[in-house]
Amino acid sequence: MTKQRVLITGAAGFLGSHLCDRFIKEGYQVLGMDNLITGDLKNIEHLFKLKEFEFYHHDVSKFIHVTGHLDYILHFASPASPIDYLKIPIQTLKVSSLGTHNCLGLAKVKNAKILVASTSEVYGDPLVHPQTEDYWGNVNPVGPRGVYDEAKRFMEAITMAYHTFHNVDTRIVRIFNTYGPRMRLNDGRALPAFIGQSLRGENITVFGDGSQTRSFCYVDDLVEGIYRLLMSDCVQPVNIGNPDEISLLDFANEIVTLTGTTQKIIFKELPTDDPKQRQPDISKAKELLNWEPKVSRSEGLKITYDYFKSFPKDELNKLPKEFESIK
Ligand code: NAD
Repeated sequence: MTKQRVLITGAAGFLGSHLCDRFIKEGYQVLGMDNLITGDLKNIEHLFKLKEFEFYHHDVSKFIHVTGHLDYILHFASPASPIDYLKIPIQTLKVSSLGTHNCLGLAKVKNAKILVASTSEVYGDPLVHPQTEDYWGNVNPVGPRGVYDEAKRFMEAITMAYHTFHNVDTRIVRIFNTYGPRMRLNDGRALPAFIGQSLRGENITVFGDGSQTRSFCYVDDLVEGIYRLLMSDCVQPVNIGNPDEISLLDFANEIVTLTGTTQKIIFKELPTDDPKQRQPDISKAKELLNWEPKVSRSEGLKITYDYFKSFPKDELNKLPKEFESIK
């Protein structure tokens, strides 16, 4: 029997690489695609020896050609942390607009089911708390984060249009802050930033007064939610995240306790349009997918800390990736 084939864009990234692992475990032929703009082949190097895995170095904002049949497409390619998308705003806009258009076109031609990775950022700085899927959001289109947030909102709109007008079988997942092994230490997100600072013996930097909240989901829980959503018949967007909300100051204190750092927590100016609160309402995922997160923050943080602790010293000291060469 021929294996089911799944194309995963953003395969060399944090979430994409975990999805590759999951689909290989489920018995699929996995085609990973990535242009490595923020990803790292190290995340998938363990898969290269497998005949169930193929890798295509390709920019999905350009026309995508894949030979043979495809059963599923998971479109996860996109810079995802503010440090990345503020440096490469045009590529960020392109990958969720042109890139999504290309993926949807491919899904239509191949008669494949497609799931696109949207984000809690479509809610912007939310005026409804916790965020339910029927909340339309509070996004500043011309603020610095607009390049990511609006591209993802366009992604959802074009995905729904392909469903309505071309009968493409589509799924939209709205992912809330996710963490775990294979995050980049220098990607600017709170968790790797705090852990990296602890490991380097630097002060822990909290933006604003730290009262802004986030809700962190462990990567294995997210992957399970995505898998269930893909296999469901739920065309409308579904939140997948962990509702266990915490202020960034309390979170920084948890990292201090976890790592045993003797450094201080210091405060810096809050970036423009930083969301003040973020918590998923996951009633829909519970009801339609029978899904809820299983991994507690203390368990997940321990696994993630152990992962970062194993990094060689020079890796820890690496500054954020520069993108000067990219126009
Ligand atoms: P990541 O940066 O680790 O992975 C993204 C991958 O996409 C990278 O490997 C990158 O090289 C690749 N990529 C970017 N542009 C590309 C292009 N034009 N062509 C081909 N490949 C390209 O980020 P992540 O955290 O794994 O995020 C993956 C997806 O999940 C993104 O779409 C992101 O918006 C979404 N998401 C992530 C989170 C989170 O907490 N990690 C939250 C909400 C949404």
